[in-house]
Amino acid sequence: MHDPNCLFCRIAKGEIPSRKVYEDEEVFAFHDIHPGAPVHFLMIPKKHVASLAQVSAEDAPLLGRMLALAPKLALEQGCNPYPEGGYRVVVNTGTEGGQEVHHLHLHVMGGPRPWLKG
Ligand code: 5GP
Ligand code: ZN
Repeated sequence: MHDPNCLFCRIAKGEIPSRKVYEDEEVFAFHDIHPGAPVHFLMIPKKHVASLAQVSAEDAPLLGRMLALAPKLALEQGCNPYPEGGYRVVVNTGTEGGQEVHHLHLHVMGGPRPWLKG
């Protein structure tokens, strides 16, 4: 459930500080320490799941809930509404998928990008 050696388990527990975006019994969301967009936060299950590749059928409702929550949190954090605004929701999976922290997380990235308008 909780892996004491896992960075994101420790962040979810508050053992390592983060800028919290959202929390409930099963989900924790916090700002990425190296934002790659004007709005960039991460959503994680509190339960330790190493990656999308380790997700089981019993995790499906939780993942669905996280995905459904992402648009609400994105707007709260300053992303503009669909369709002119929007955001990317990305799950890097495994080394060749660009995953560096091995606790499942959704990146939510968006926010105003004036250079995209034209
Ligand atoms: P990955 O490459 O695994 O998909 O993404 C990991 C993300 O976690 C990166 O965007 C990185 O900036 C972020 N990150 C790594 N360590 C920390 C940390 O200690 N605190 C926070 N808030 N984000 C972190
Ligand atoms: Zn973990």
